[in-house]
Amino acid sequence: MDSSCKEENGNPVNCLWVHGPIIVGAGPSGLAVAACLKEKGVPSLILERSECISSLWQQRTYDRLKLHLPKQFCQLPFLSFPENFPKYPTKQQFISYMESYARHFSIEPIFKEVVETAELDRVRKFWRVRTQDFEYCSRWLIVATGENADSFIPEIQGIERFQGPVIHTSSYKSGSEFKNQRVLVVGCGNSGMEVSLDLCRHNAIPHMVVRNSVHILPREMFGFSTFSIAVELLKWLPLRLVDKFLLLVANFTLGNTDRLGLRRPKTGPIELKNATGKTPVLDVGALSQIKSGKIKVMEGVREITKTGAKFMDGQEKEFDCIILATGYKSNVPSWLKGTDFFTQDGMPKTPFPNGWKGENGLYTVGFTRRGLLGTSSDAINIAGDIVEQWRMIKGFRTSCTSHILPSRTSIY
Ligand SMILES: Cc1cc2nc3c(=O)[nH]c(=O)nc-3n(C[C@H](O)[C@H](O)[C@H](O)COP(=O)(O)OP(=O)(O)OC[C@H]3O[C@@H](n4cnc5c(N)ncnc54)[C@H](O)[C@@H]3O)c2cc1C
Repeated sequence: MDSSCKEENGNPVNCLWVHGPIIVGAGPSGLAVAACLKEKGVPSLILERSECISSLWQQRTYDRLKLHLPKQFCQLPFLSFPENFPKYPTKQQFISYMESYARHFSIEPIFKEVVETAELDRVRKFWRVRTQDFEYCSRWLIVATGENADSFIPEIQGIERFQGPVIHTSSYKSGSEFKNQRVLVVGCGNSGMEVSLDLCRHNAIPHMVVRNSVHILPREMFGFSTFSIAVELLKWLPLRLVDKFLLLVANFTLGNTDRLGLRRPKTGPIELKNATGKTPVLDVGALSQIKSGKIKVMEGVREITKTGAKFMDGQEKEFDCIILATGYKSNVPSWLKGTDFFTQDGMPKTPFPNGWKGENGLYTVGFTRRGLLGTSSDAINIAGDIVEQWRMIKGFRTSCTSHILPSRTSIY
């Protein structure tokens, strides 16, 4: 690594010049793009705030989690899941796959390096990426901090009054900690459903708050994953017809979910996903627990009290604990400065499939709302784009090295 020090605002800054791209985040997206670059002979440097790769999966998911989609839709470029892995790998299997992926491509992120700010130096046309102790500089900045960087915690009236524990699903590990407890689960997406199911299996008493409408689909139809059926049908049929088909089968196999307090949105599941990013819930068993009354469905919360909650329908109940299954949000606006490429919510303004490329060497990977499939597509596109520039610069550098690398020294 090339380093030089200079004073800025009176403070010494350690400046490190990175020849290849700087990637922020060592989740699946950061690793996938580093691997694709490596395959093309382009080195890169990953900065990761935690002390491990795939920290979302290692540190912020529950024990019982399995991939929601079949493994062929979740593998990263150039390395498949092991043959002996089941169709829906467990969390531990996914983590071991990610670890072997990093090993296979010799990817070694710098850990415990929180990116505090990143900004384009408009005069010199390179990105300045600041962490607590260093400033890393490169022509290319790849944002791989994910759609789920921070927990999303909505305002809920009275929540500060509640005397029991209030946790987000990112801290939930297992229902074994909640045996015989009355638990209020706020949210009915995939996490809310699966946490409620896990609580049931550990003899807790979950009450799940369903504020909005939600599409629930069986994870499999006719022995095939619902996702793969949808992907195949979309090749031949218009989206609305595919949605109609999915809903017909879902109603036939799951019954009318409206009757259970789970109202379906008017827009079909795929159309809704494309328009708003809202993922349909793939049922892995929660619905039968709702039918049997073990998971109680509650209308929206009016307010939280010291010992429980008052609901919109006038009911009032006591709870030992509250679990917020309220989702996640991107953290890009908190650290990426001086670009209008992202929305206020930290998502690229340009929709899929073109949201991976910004201006002046800015790229994003994993912000497609299409899970790991979207990550792979972004990673391949980015590597293809950067390698062209890399070859031009390398050619130029070999002919006049002294002009390109003046007093800086470099690691990559
Ligand atoms: C419970 C759950 C289940 C899921 N199941 C599936 C599934 O089955 N299939 C599927 O395709 N997708 C699934 N997803 C979607 C999920 O987003 C992807 O699986 C995947 O983790 C996304 O990878 P990523 O690298 O884009 O983001 P992340 O995995 O979130 O990685 C981003 C990394 O960036 C780091 N970071 C953030 N901010 C900074 C900073 N300022 N400085 C340095 N580092 C930073 C984080 O620490 C993190 O390690 C699931 C998500 C959740 C929450």
